[in-house]
Amino acid sequence: MSACIFCRIVSGEIPAEVVAREPEVLAFLDVQPLADGHVLVVPRAHVPRVEDLKPSAADALFRAVVRLAGPVREALGAAGTTIGINNGDATGQTIPHVHVHIVPRWPKDGAGSVHTIFPRNVKQKLPEVGAAIRKALD
Ligand code: 5GP
Ligand code: ZN
Repeated sequence: MSACIFCRIVSGEIPAEVVAREPEVLAFLDVQPLADGHVLVVPRAHVPRVEDLKPSAADALFRAVVRLAGPVREALGAAGTTIGINNGDATGQTIPHVHVHIVPRWPKDGAGSVHTIFPRNVKQKLPEVGAAIRKALD
């Protein structure tokens, strides 16, 4: 038996309000929704972080997000969706199985943009940051 809650949802051991089943991906409602229609999209295979996804799982995951975004918004009569991933302990990821949040949004719903979660604590110049990332990609 897996200790991972999302693996247990994928296997059917724990019930969830499933909205889409695909060969490599499952999408279901968050049990503690931030808004009506808050969906979680997960790879069926247990993968802790985005950088651990195999290319085919990454493709399938993002394709499912693309496929779900419009219908989730329309089903709830929303104006848009905030789509996000907490990636790693330090970000507030509570379940170490990659999951994409799709949260319907409405004008004046009281929530902010992705920018509002950051206190804008920047210490380095763009060229040095750019160089460091390009080097890490080599
Ligand atoms: P995180 O903070 O890791 O990005 O988000 C994890 C999400 O999983 C939370 O929004 C939480 O409400 C949701 N969640 C935790 N346990 C369960 C569960 O057993 N079933 C469902 N459907 N969602 C869960
Ligand atoms: Zn898992």
